[in-house]
Amino acid sequence: MVLHMQVYERFGDLSIWDRIGRRLDWYKGVSLNRFPAKYLIARYTDAGNSRAFADTDVGKHMEIYRKSARSFKRLKKSVLQGQKLSELPVPEYSLLDLARDITSNMLRSCIFCRWRCKVDRVEGKRLGACMLTDESRVSSFFHHTGEELVFRGTHGSGTIFFTSCNMRCLFCQNSDISRDRFNGVPVSGKDIADMAMQLRNEGCHNINYVGGEPSIHLHSIVDSIWHMGNEGSKAESPFISSGIMVVKQDHFPYPYRKEFSEHDGFFNVPILFNTNMFLSLEAMEILRPLVDIWLPDFKFGPGGCAVRLSRTPWYYETVTSNLKKLNQWNEDVMIRHLIMPNHVECCTKPVLKWISDNMNDVPVNIMAQYRPEAFADPTSRDFNRRAQDIARKPYQSELDESWNYAEELGINYREASFE
Ligand code: SF4
Repeated sequence: MVLHMQVYERFGDLSIWDRIGRRLDWYKGVSLNRFPAKYLIARYTDAGNSRAFADTDVGKHMEIYRKSARSFKRLKKSVLQGQKLSELPVPEYSLLDLARDITSNMLRSCIFCRWRCKVDRVEGKRLGACMLTDESRVSSFFHHTGEELVFRGTHGSGTIFFTSCNMRCLFCQNSDISRDRFNGVPVSGKDIADMAMQLRNEGCHNINYVGGEPSIHLHSIVDSIWHMGNEGSKAESPFISSGIMVVKQDHFPYPYRKEFSEHDGFFNVPILFNTNMFLSLEAMEILRPLVDIWLPDFKFGPGGCAVRLSRTPWYYETVTSNLKKLNQWNEDVMIRHLIMPNHVECCTKPVLKWISDNMNDVPVNIMAQYRPEAFADPTSRDFNRRAQDIARKPYQSELDESWNYAEELGINYREASFE
């Protein structure tokens, strides 16, 4: 057991931390339990009078949320100066409560993502682009050992895979999950929190909400964070029903230790949001005081590729505007870009140039692992002619050209791309 803890603690000594830059400092501190996760700070941020929720005007809710988020910032600053949350009174109505109420109300006229469908997902008579009602389903949860080193560490990234998506990528490598909204098992926020607590107490370095796309499950995710913030410290060993355990993908006997998650008596884990970045501004703002590290995808340049290959209008403007927000908020971020065949000029280069011009110090993983899948697989009966240009792996020359361009621009890409 001692050996196990020693291996675990080596995560903080990995040399990659010295090389990757300062943009992940907060995440690292929370992961090592030196700082409380943001959701704990949100739990101690006073959000005033809950009666504001007698009506369901989203604009008004967001106004209150923004105001409380300013108090959150002040509290986070004092936490960094040594203030212990356990010494503070728990407010009657916290920013964390407010986040849960807002997302639950928003489901009645959904604007979680840029589609802004405004459908009533509780009623479920009309569905939006994600085809979801208020039900969230999880396809699997497990220790992910294939993520970037700063996320997988020594014990894996605590990954929770949600079904469905708000984009329709012809080449999706998880299309069984993203296109099948009935995949996996239905879950409540409490179920998701139990999964998260299990993974963290088995040593995972973060909780990695992914899909499909996690933002379309915002209400369930925020609810799960609420449960972690309010009930996490009480959980000796969360009871997870057998109906949920069927989707736990790894059954390696990881030792269950509260030391993995303990900070100042609280259950603590960094929240990682692994997203296609096609979120609404409101979703971004709600997540800001809850997410410790953002892992956004940036796939397409400003031309028509996003519409042709992913049936996603307003892609480039939405992603760049959301990334700008993260930068302005000084959030911990790592960007992923997948090099696709025949898309170096129209997508890879404009994406890298934008990153270089706007957030040059952010670590970027420029990924080489594209392979034609789903409707882009020329050997499949489902092959779609619109995917003709991406029906092969990228050539080595395309990979080299992309990395050389990143080098020329001086982007921080080496550590994340070549581990
Ligand atoms: S999550 Fe996005 S796609 Fe789904 S209903 Fe809401 S706005 Fe529409």
